[in-house]
Amino acid sequence: MARRKKIYEGKAKTLYEGPEPGTIIQYFKDDATAFNAEKKAVIEGKGVLNNMLSEYFMTGLNTIGVPTHFIKRINMREQLVRACEMVPLEVIVRNFAAGSMAKRLGMDEGTQLPRPIVEYCLKDDKLGDPLVTEEHIAAFGWASQQDMDDILSLALRVNDFLSGVMFGVGIRLVDFKIEIGRVYDGDFQRLIVADEISPDSCRLWDIATGRKLDKDVFRRDLGSLTDAYTEVATRLGVMPKGATPMVRPTLIN
Ligand code: UDP
Repeated sequence: MARRKKIYEGKAKTLYEGPEPGTIIQYFKDDATAFNAEKKAVIEGKGVLNNMLSEYFMTGLNTIGVPTHFIKRINMREQLVRACEMVPLEVIVRNFAAGSMAKRLGMDEGTQLPRPIVEYCLKDDKLGDPLVTEEHIAAFGWASQQDMDDILSLALRVNDFLSGVMFGVGIRLVDFKIEIGRVYDGDFQRLIVADEISPDSCRLWDIATGRKLDKDVFRRDLGSLTDAYTEVATRLGVMPKGATPMVRPTLIN
């Protein structure tokens, strides 16, 4: 059998050429990194949980008419997605102050924001993904004004959807990051939600206790990351109660 072609290996996922032109297979690894990969670990089961959770969120978004790259899950660690040209930005939406914004503006973590705040960072590991303004984005041509209008609208729709879904299972969506891809349908281009949506890229706090159920558990050494992600997956019904995400990586040929 032909060895399948690796397109890209990132920190948490590897991308392979998909079975049809215009498709990609996303393989979710167990690798966890933080602080621009200064802190690293392999956390057994993380890839399986993120694959299932990202499927859950992306499918929900597709169902309510927010376009995403997700096509279908293939197995415990892989999903088939639509290939797209990535917009070189991280789009962050915040409902409560936390992380870098709390630090930058001297706010207490957990302070409710007067309205959702959308921020943009340039995707560039060497520079540590610096915060950029719409002026930079327009001047350097990373996205057009029309793209930015579409990105803002997508980001806010994703925020409303995810906030509601999480609220329904007793979890506060503090903030999250999405990435946006460009696809071409004939002569038309469209922007869609790409990459992944998982507790690796969100801040999720239990509403009753404040317990962190996201990657801050790893960043700040707060206990078992797998337990935290399993709690999210179980509440959403993505993992049956008592199921274990500890399956061995699928063999890749
Ligand atoms: N985030 C992410 N990838 C990044 C940077 C941030 O997924 O490279 C997510 C992060 O998990 C959080 C939100 O974006 O949910 C806001 O992150 P923040 O800017 O506070 O950065 P951090 O404190 O994580 O460095």
